[in-house]
Amino acid sequence: MTTHARTKQHFQQPSEHNHSECVSEALGTAEHLCIERGVQLTPIRHKVLELIWESHKAVKAYELLDSLKPQQQAAKPATIYRALDFLIEQGLIHRVESLNAFIGCRCSGHQHEQLLLICKHCHEVEERPASGVMSALSQEFRQAGFTVHSKAIEIHGICAKCRDLPDDQQ
Ligand SMILES: [Zn+2]
Ligand SMILES: [Zn+2]
Ligand SMILES: [Zn+2]
Repeated sequence: MTTHARTKQHFQQPSEHNHSECVSEALGTAEHLCIERGVQLTPIRHKVLELIWESHKAVKAYELLDSLKPQQQAAKPATIYRALDFLIEQGLIHRVESLNAFIGCRCSGHQHEQLLLICKHCHEVEERPASGVMSALSQEFRQAGFTVHSKAIEIHGICAKCRDLPDDQQ
């Protein structure tokens, strides 16, 4: 089997969108929302949000701590968790329960229901509104007389980009 260098390079960069646009949009929205709401996007909260937005992969709290340590010697797990709680409250990130990790959200700036498609290969998480699924579920809940506090569906599998990888890279 031959390996084409060009092809390999291509697959090492699966994200074919301009991610710096995602980052600047997400951070801009966060700054704007916090001013509007009169809440403080402190340097540590800002930094944590920026780190989460480094990619579309779900990030664990200890990974955030590791990234912060070189600049902020005083950063402790509690510091990170407080920043994460704030960002969740403001609807700027989501907790991916099944991974115990976090992803950025820029769809609304408030807490909302989500369908999360989690790729087990590249660990990227795609968020989709899936309004049809959500309203079908709401009907189930009504029939069950069940009061829902939060609605998030997490699905694990292989994303479209990884599905198209050659077998030996999957
Ligand atoms: Zn992006
Ligand atoms: Zn979201
Ligand atoms: Zn993937």
